[in-house]
Amino acid sequence: MMAKNPDGPGQVTLSRYVNTFGQAMLQRYGERVHKIAINAAFTCPNIDGSKGRGGCTFCNNVSFNPNGRKPSAITEQIAAGRQVILKRTGARKYLAYFQAYTNTYADINRLRGLYDSALSEPDVIGLAIGTRPDCAPEPVLDLLAEYQQQGHEIWLELGLQSSFDESLIRVNRGHGFAEYKTTLQNARKRGLQVCTHLIVGLPGETKMHCNVTLERVLELGVDGLKLHPLHVVKGTQLANEWRRGEYQPLLLDEYIDIAADLIRQTPAEIIFHRLTGTAAANILLAPDWCSQKWLVLNRLTEALQHRSYYPACSGQVPADSARILQ
Ligand code: SF4
Repeated sequence: MMAKNPDGPGQVTLSRYVNTFGQAMLQRYGERVHKIAINAAFTCPNIDGSKGRGGCTFCNNVSFNPNGRKPSAITEQIAAGRQVILKRTGARKYLAYFQAYTNTYADINRLRGLYDSALSEPDVIGLAIGTRPDCAPEPVLDLLAEYQQQGHEIWLELGLQSSFDESLIRVNRGHGFAEYKTTLQNARKRGLQVCTHLIVGLPGETKMHCNVTLERVLELGVDGLKLHPLHVVKGTQLANEWRRGEYQPLLLDEYIDIAADLIRQTPAEIIFHRLTGTAAANILLAPDWCSQKWLVLNRLTEALQHRSYYPACSGQVPADSARILQ
């Protein structure tokens, strides 16, 4: 991942300090591999009433599909995504990233049909499946393991957000850490790669909570991580809390400090799929720095550059204090 540096010539290489997804795929395949986001018109058990109603307090249920139209066929979405990514990055191989809502929340035959449809594209070499920890039963994991055995690049992306049950209750997640542990173990015993999503800045949480969550996640074992700052978007319960002054979003400096620390504590072989997050400008309420992805990535790169930064996995101090992963 190259972070553009608006303050000076040239570019700062974030992947010099972080094992980024882009870098890891480049090493694995000898060429760029990008995810193409797919909306397969799923819903979520935390919205439709089977686990809960209203969803997580930070989730804007329409943000996955802002124009409100029925999503187009998987192959059409891949064709559109391919065009954009090819132009922007030159990548010619892709993972179909089933991103919107809960992408394992359907009958196994329907899931197989959807996943097969994505994998039928010759340049789609695998899948990234975003889901909740309480919604990935063993038959679904078997199906993903089957694809992996066929040689596809498969990632199960589990939204944990926090390992603290009281924080998960506060944001109405509808699952606890125990469900994450079970699904993680079921996935890993099948050899599936798991990427765990963590949110920094949940209501009531501090840096200590983020550090403990990371510690617990690393202890159980994981292959990838996604970090993202909690942001307030329109039409959510969190937006009401923010308006009433009951939720205070993170400052950019706070996010950089926590995220850099989490990266520093993570063994070098774990792949960071994402280091920040944003929302469409028309729904983002706060913090406003969340809309500036490159600002966040540049600040993070600088923080990693300036800290004493040693590989967490080897225990050795390299000559230039930088964890060089390329
Ligand atoms: S689990 Fe995901 S899709 Fe479901 S309500 Fe929460 S954030 Fe939204």
